[in-house]
Amino acid sequence: MSDKTIFQKIIDHEIPAPLVYEDDLVAAFNDIQQQAPIHILIVPKKLIPRVGAAMPEDQATLGALLLAAGKIADKLGINDRSKGFRLVINHGKDAGETVPHLHVHLLAGRELAWPPG
Ligand code: AMP
Repeated sequence: MSDKTIFQKIIDHEIPAPLVYEDDLVAAFNDIQQQAPIHILIVPKKLIPRVGAAMPEDQATLGALLLAAGKIADKLGINDRSKGFRLVINHGKDAGETVPHLHVHLLAGRELAWPPG
């Protein structure tokens, strides 16, 4: 039985999900439960379970996640201060993590409340 995460299956094209961005280190696709008009998940191709489990050798991958966010925001025309976007990483139960494969939520397209719930 495969013990791949759902995100690994998407990255490996075993589950169909159009990629909105891809490079050597990361891939991005729409969240299945959109919490904002734009809700994209940016996921490392290497399995890192959650941000606090990242190792020093993951530095380039961690950087690639944030650089990808900027490139996706460029593509969507929201990479400026008049529009903008929010990045969220949930680590563990209290933060609401449900998929044990590090991912950055990119949320945009409406005013986002602060503080978050
Ligand atoms: P988190 O709660 O931070 O672990 O986020 C996991 C996210 O994965 C949730 O927002 C889910 O809606 C999303 N999700 C779960 N399964 C899929 C899927 N097959 N395709 C796209 N997004 C998914």
